[in-house]
Amino acid sequence: MQEQDFYAELTSAIRHVYLVSQDFIPLHAPVFDGNEKKYLCETIDSTFVSSVGEFVNQVEIKLAEFTGARYAIATGNGTLALHAALILAGVEQNTEVITQPLSFVATGNAILYCKARPVFVDVDKDTASLSPESLLRFLQQHAQINDDGVCINKTTGARISACVPMHSFGFVGRIREIADICKKWHIPLVEDSAESLGSYCGDIHTGRFGQLGVLSFNGNKTITCGGGGAILTDDEQLAKKAKHITTTAKVPHKWEFYHDELGYNYRMPNINAALLVAQLEQLPHFLSNKAETAALYLEHFKHLNVQLLQPLPGTTANYWLNTLIFENREQRDGFLQFSNDNGVMTRPAWTLMNKMPAFADAVVFEIENAQWLEDRLVNIPSSVR
Ligand SMILES: *Cc1c(COP(=O)(O)O)cnc(C)c1O
Repeated sequence: MQEQDFYAELTSAIRHVYLVSQDFIPLHAPVFDGNEKKYLCETIDSTFVSSVGEFVNQVEIKLAEFTGARYAIATGNGTLALHAALILAGVEQNTEVITQPLSFVATGNAILYCKARPVFVDVDKDTASLSPESLLRFLQQHAQINDDGVCINKTTGARISACVPMHSFGFVGRIREIADICKKWHIPLVEDSAESLGSYCGDIHTGRFGQLGVLSFNGNKTITCGGGGAILTDDEQLAKKAKHITTTAKVPHKWEFYHDELGYNYRMPNINAALLVAQLEQLPHFLSNKAETAALYLEHFKHLNVQLLQPLPGTTANYWLNTLIFENREQRDGFLQFSNDNGVMTRPAWTLMNKMPAFADAVVFEIENAQWLEDRLVNIPSSVR
């Protein structure tokens, strides 16, 4: 088959799945057909649009319920949640944080906000998420646990203060293995589960395998409230501290303004929380709809010579973004060009973080699979239909 015909077949398969023959098909558009307007109006009428309000409390209760985490703390967006989670995990200046090079830049940025140094270990080809084997190789070659029980990079002398795996596009990585390794090496685990609301390993929700997990409700995520995020934890002390530092570390008092440590204004406004409560009501429906879309894609692409990223056995993906793997970068680029020229929005993986200027000082351990995926991976339209 000619390459152009191949791209045309793929593009028309996407149009079949979305039952749209001509119009533009976005990558991931939000859907607001529940109680969004009702709750927004209630919030405006109440005048409690800002930093306190009943919807924020509801968001935190509902997120804990849905994920099974004991505590959820709402934040202004996912990046802020990540920054706060790293602070809570004990990430400090001149420590090292292990993560994957293939992620949205926010994962790495949060590490830099703490003035810590990212260490990039590889991802697995079949999950696009952090590879436990690469993590273990790094630790065996470079790390040791000192007399105080602290994990140190022998080569640089720096403390290894956290490991931050990310579940790419809502597909679940080998998180149990990663959690075991982190435990053995005394490394706090913070899951960037920004993309994986509704994704499970066994029956445990992503974001619950370490000390802390993070969610995002940005406009392109599975559910959105414009901008929003959350921290998940089972630890009561961490939860209290999370709420405290994300709300300016103010000591409660009727009129005094006294803040007992460095705090941040990272809270979720009540008006965003109103939107999120309405979205959370629809989440189960969105998830089953997205699973149907993924099944349709599998059916439509069966006879075409392209691979569709699949969840690992024993895991449940939320299918946030369906993902094709092409044979090489040339084919990837050919399809990106054709589909976008023809009104079907597609996009490549993120440029590996180690290639970007802000990360010039990062430690690059292994990135072979990450580069392999960067060369081949394309996200295709995945909105709720
Ligand atoms: C979306 C996302 C975040 C957080 O993004 P915000 O836009 O700040 O909510 C963090 N990490 C990853 C991997 C993401 O995809």
